[in-house]
Amino acid sequence: MIVMKFGGSSVAGAEKIRRVADIVRGRLPRKPVLVVSAFRGTTDDLLALAHDALKGDLSKIETVAKRHREAAAELGAAFEPLAPLFDELTALARGISLLRELTPRTLDRVASFGERFSARLVAAALAENGVPARAVDAFDAGLLTDERFGAAAPLPEADEALRAFFAPLADLPVVTGFVGRTRGGEITTLGRNGSDYSATILGAALGAEEIQIWSDTDGIMTADPRLVPSAKPLGSLSFAEACELAYYGGKVLHPHTLVPAMAKDIPVRVLNTFKPDHPGTLIVAHPPKTDGATLKSIAFKRRQLIVSASSPRMTSGPGFLAQIFSAFARHGVDVDMVATSEVSVSATTAGEKGVERLVAELTPEFEMTVERGQAVVCAVGDGIQHMPGVAAEVFAAVRSVGVNVRMISQGASKNNVAFVVEDADVERAVRALHDRFFPA
Ligand code: ASP
Ligand code: MG
Repeated sequence: MIVMKFGGSSVAGAEKIRRVADIVRGRLPRKPVLVVSAFRGTTDDLLALAHDALKGDLSKIETVAKRHREAAAELGAAFEPLAPLFDELTALARGISLLRELTPRTLDRVASFGERFSARLVAAALAENGVPARAVDAFDAGLLTDERFGAAAPLPEADEALRAFFAPLADLPVVTGFVGRTRGGEITTLGRNGSDYSATILGAALGAEEIQIWSDTDGIMTADPRLVPSAKPLGSLSFAEACELAYYGGKVLHPHTLVPAMAKDIPVRVLNTFKPDHPGTLIVAHPPKTDGATLKSIAFKRRQLIVSASSPRMTSGPGFLAQIFSAFARHGVDVDMVATSEVSVSATTAGEKGVERLVAELTPEFEMTVERGQAVVCAVGDGIQHMPGVAAEVFAAVRSVGVNVRMISQGASKNNVAFVVEDADVERAVRALHDRFFPA
């Protein structure tokens, strides 16, 4: 069997769902299981709805309802089956506004509705287009997770539960991405963009021969095409390269997506719903060698902070790094990249969370600085660690456009060179790198 995940932009609209129906129909002999995400913008609206409800404002319920009434009409599906879900969402929003309390648990429950709506409408629309299908809520189908609301991870027993659920199904299942449930029955979400992750969890559990991620680009590109118009799609990537790209802000895949596929060695293919004959990008353990290419792709993350701690006493004994990083952990500051010298250590992090308290705690002992408005750029390619001169060329390219590099990391992963520049310089840096390594 295969798993086919369709993003929100692939399924909204009559024309699009007909394409999806055609694509799926052509693959019925491979016994597809579909995974869908919410229609575009819905998850954002649901999260805003929950926060508005806290202030007593319930108006976004109608915004979300309107979008789905229109989607249903366009898809030729009935809206009525969604009515009980809207009642549930309304009751939940009232509860939030009465209690003036919004826990991570409640937020996940609210966020889950996007995929529950879309799975139902997509299943109905597929049936309408001659592909009998049924909607399945992943939390009823055995996708058990831990209790980390907002960033849940699957539990080992999920595999068996999923297999037991899906084995006897006859109609094509259209499964909600993004959501799962705890052993105690609470709905969880896997984190923003988590439907890709749902697809690989399902694929690994069911022993899929392939996991297909259908979106609206020709696969994974050499750089973000919005920044670099000459970016080209990649025929193949290794799991390690694709992980690195996802982690460093490549927009195509959720960072955890590849973990289940890697564990079971299942190929993942990134495909374009609007160009179904394009081969897309194949992600496997050992992709075929591409002659001459050193780098595969360039990713970046904006709005990063550099937090630095320094003290002359750091030269005088062990234990300082442990002390500093245990404070990072205690305050929930998520560290991405690290650079150290004899007397100081700098780490990048993605947000303000915990930073102020961390700085307050360490200030008596260390000189602390926080630099905002930074960006991490990461150049990825298997084997670049063993290619002489790659780092020199990377930094020569960045230097050629007069961009200053604030921090460098190479060697922690075998396949990347990562560095930090000011956020305002990131476009120039990425374009210069791309021009150097992927000349038109
Ligand atoms: N709907 C969820 C989100 O927007 C999950 C996804 O789209 O993959 O984050
Ligand atoms: Mg996505």
